[in-house]
Amino acid sequence: MNIKFGRRFFLIILVVMVVSGIITLHLRTDSSSVADNPVTSTTMTRFLMDTAIVIKAVGPDSENAVNEAFAEIERVEAVFSRHLPDSQVAKINQHAGEWVAVSPEVFELLQKGIYYGRLSGGAFDITIGSVIELWGFGSGINRVPDEDELRQARQYVDISKVEIDEERGRVRIPQGTVLDFGGIAKGYAVDLCKQVLKENRVISAMISAGGDIAVVGVKENGNPWRVGIQHPRISTDILAVVSLVDQTIVTSGDYERFFIEEGVRFHHIIDPATGFPARGVISVTIIADSAADGDALSTAVFVLGLDQGKELIERLDGIEAVIVDEDGDAWVSSGLKDEIELL
Ligand code: ADP
Ligand code: MG
Repeated sequence: MNIKFGRRFFLIILVVMVVSGIITLHLRTDSSSVADNPVTSTTMTRFLMDTAIVIKAVGPDSENAVNEAFAEIERVEAVFSRHLPDSQVAKINQHAGEWVAVSPEVFELLQKGIYYGRLSGGAFDITIGSVIELWGFGSGINRVPDEDELRQARQYVDISKVEIDEERGRVRIPQGTVLDFGGIAKGYAVDLCKQVLKENRVISAMISAGGDIAVVGVKENGNPWRVGIQHPRISTDILAVVSLVDQTIVTSGDYERFFIEEGVRFHHIIDPATGFPARGVISVTIIADSAADGDALSTAVFVLGLDQGKELIERLDGIEAVIVDEDGDAWVSSGLKDEIELL
């Protein structure tokens, strides 16, 4: 069943406002911490995971909190990037055909990837790497592959062939298969970033990582965060505004990474069934408690398209979405209708 916002949503906002008020009060009455660490606001931008990441945080020692949050993103990138030869994911790819021992977090995100692969009937598939390499996304040199190359590369895209050995924490992928966590790792990093900020007593924060956004608590003025969804065709325009408290909002669009050849736009969200960029929708936004879930689902729904995408979203609990089709029409999930301001 789909979560209905409405009255329940406002109740959640109220509860969060009260809770964050209590936290603020606690900090202000703890005189030693106030004297040593007054509440400050810090905003920093860094380029990590191939995107500009902005973190704004309010709390005692907010600068340290933000630095630690960035360090966490850097750590996640070093583990999951297939471009860094020493990453755990690169190791699995380099040793395709053999069992490779991985850390619990790699195992866990791999299992999440497999879960979303099943849930989306294969629209989301983290074994898409061999096809992504052909298109050159991530490497900087883009080209349209020919049919033969694509047919060849697509043979290795099949999540059901990834073997996992839970007991020994090992993974084995078939030779030729290339794991690519590009559709989920950024969301995962944003979730951990949020956790680090909270551990550092941040009261209010926003993390924005190229389409993956998470907020902590409410804004400094006590109001919910208001997050804009970018217009997929007019980069300076906002399509809609959503009010958020302690949630994440993730958008996948065909405008994020693409090249144009002979008037055709080729973007980086690939339909595993064809090996070509998915067509039909141009932007998918997911609102969820976890950005890793939102990230996987935004990519999955993009590939599934409007009809199947709608159906999937409406049967998931706690997940809301905005899907923009190629005519520019925006579909809003039933639980979000009262909470969104379409511009
Ligand atoms: P962004 O990284 O711009 O936020 P997405 O979350 O939609 O965008 O992820 C796109 C990335 O996911 C691609 O660059 C590629 O690494 C990977 N990817 C592309 N198609 C798929 C797919 N069908 N399933 C899983 N991952 C995919
Ligand atoms: Mg994604």
